[in-house]
Amino acid sequence: MRLLTFRIENGTRAGRVEGDHVVELGFSDVGDLLASGPDWRSTALTEGKLRPLAGLVFAPVVLRPPAIICVGLNYGAHAAEAGSHVPTFPTLFAKFASSLIGAHDDLLLPAVSSEVDWEVELAFVVGRSGRNLSRDEAQDSIAGYTVANDVSMRDWQRRTSQFLQGKSFEASTPVGPFLVTPEELPGGSAENLRLTCEIDGIAMQDGRTSDLIFCPAALAAYVSEIMTLQPGMLVLTGTPSGIGGSRTPPVFLRDGQIMRTTIEGIGVLENSVRAASSPASNRAGARG
Ligand code: ZN
Repeated sequence: MRLLTFRIENGTRAGRVEGDHVVELGFSDVGDLLASGPDWRSTALTEGKLRPLAGLVFAPVVLRPPAIICVGLNYGAHAAEAGSHVPTFPTLFAKFASSLIGAHDDLLLPAVSSEVDWEVELAFVVGRSGRNLSRDEAQDSIAGYTVANDVSMRDWQRRTSQFLQGKSFEASTPVGPFLVTPEELPGGSAENLRLTCEIDGIAMQDGRTSDLIFCPAALAAYVSEIMTLQPGMLVLTGTPSGIGGSRTPPVFLRDGQIMRTTIEGIGVLENSVRAASSPASNRAGARG
């Protein structure tokens, strides 16, 4: 099953993809669908108004996650390019819902940063509550997978030992376009998918999820020791090597570029990079 959240005139709706159409569901976003109860899968299979997929504008696949947990340094080659050793424990940090944008929204470069960088990431969304889960239970708590780009303001990220200020800029993190349930993926899992980030058609990152140090189930189990997993929680699992800040010389996003973020079997984010010329334009990508 492929689910999405799309924009309508006065808000957003959840939908289910059926070929080149979308069946509209009675929820404002995929997060609300997941929070409707343990039977969300059968709820998602109900009939509704049909809309052509091609005409829809994607919103973030979950609009208001109860938490957004991100993982740093979760690929060996990326940890090495960042000057770190392979970690014993996941490096966790957080984002807020205000950071999320849709799969085709413009990415606005904040005037206060000159080092805006890309990070393709496999993300997963929780579909079931749970605390202190085993690895198997944690796997079953994952509703599905989506594509995220953990766009990072490196100059802000490096200001202190905590990452948050470089990772939580408003309207900076595209996520979507679809939430893909595990059975849709090769072998029923996200364990060996190619993930890439291209800037203006040039491959900058090209990795495989098989190189993750901590896999999604391990991360869900670990987070469940800290807090109760709740439906709609979003977890970004970390990025492979090839970020702009670790290149020689470093390269960062510029006005007019196209950032294309792909995970095979899940989907593609395509975001135009724009200079944020005014406070008003800074808000344009922050719509729900
Ligand atoms: Zn990241």
